[in-house]
Amino acid sequence: MEKIDPPNAHEYGDDDDNFSESFSFVTSSTLTFMPGQFEKTTTVSVSQNAGNNYKIEAAAQNGNPSQGIPNQVVKSETLTVWRRLWVELDQMAAPTEGTDPNQFNPATKYTPGASGDRGDITKNQWMDGDENSTPSNEPTDFDVKFQPPKPDITLLQEAMLAACIEVKEVDQLGDTSWITGDSASQNSGAWDLTTPFVKNLADLTLAAGYDISTPSRDVDYNNSSFWCIHGIGAYEANTGDTWDGNSVAGEDNYICGVTFTGSGVFLIFNETIRDIVSTKATTKDGKTIQRTVSEIQQLVVLHEVLHMFGLIDKMKLNGTVNPLYAPLGDGPIMRSDWFFSPTCCTNTFFK
Ligand SMILES: [Zn+2]
Repeated sequence: MEKIDPPNAHEYGDDDDNFSESFSFVTSSTLTFMPGQFEKTTTVSVSQNAGNNYKIEAAAQNGNPSQGIPNQVVKSETLTVWRRLWVELDQMAAPTEGTDPNQFNPATKYTPGASGDRGDITKNQWMDGDENSTPSNEPTDFDVKFQPPKPDITLLQEAMLAACIEVKEVDQLGDTSWITGDSASQNSGAWDLTTPFVKNLADLTLAAGYDISTPSRDVDYNNSSFWCIHGIGAYEANTGDTWDGNSVAGEDNYICGVTFTGSGVFLIFNETIRDIVSTKATTKDGKTIQRTVSEIQQLVVLHEVLHMFGLIDKMKLNGTVNPLYAPLGDGPIMRSDWFFSPTCCTNTFFK
């Protein structure tokens, strides 16, 4: 019996293209049948890499090839390794009004139409709304007060099927035996669906990400038996960077989401996404945003989760091209082109 590695089921599939077969694997085994024996069992183990596939070929030594009588050969169906990626989806709590840095100051509230048209909106004002609010003539650091929605994994679920990964949302109304390693969360032993509202992250470090994640993280992502990551609907990244906080008109790198290496946590910045859509943000070389809020929310989720699988951004935050970016391996989702054109890529997920 022999293990065969047929082409993986994607457009670049080829023979012997399984990823990392360094684990202990039976590549061939010989079964000896005694007279009258018709059935034997052997064990073949497969890797844990999603998309790896196998056929098992059994060749009976019952022919006589030198006399033109071939051995009988039977091949199994293709066996493909699928993995399940669980996502614990949470969101920040709704912001409140007050003078704390993480509150909306009533003194700066803007009421549309109260004193003329929206051309009156000035810096540091805010209005009530939702992530689809699109006030006209909006200054780039104007805020809309809404509760960040939890991340939308619709596109992620669709796209990851190509990698033989089934993405499922953790049922946070269900079995509490899933809740492990959450002693630092707000309600230890119970599901936490919201994390406290934070208007701007302290910075884009792992520690700042954990500050957002830990209060609502319920499932331990350090377990060895299954994958579970944590996605949080957040408001904005840190101030002083691109686009909300102290935005810089004409910057290319909007921080619409972030993930932290090794953390299993990603954040989606919903006010930044709302902002760049409502202002039709323009880059340094004159490209404008051509996506809807919903499209960008979904594309950023896919982008951030792919970082967890090792994919690399084309552009660094300082605006230079990352030499580690590989057009074929990292693909269009790790470029920012899809912000700017509905027809930038031939990939089905970007149309
Ligand atoms: Zn990225």
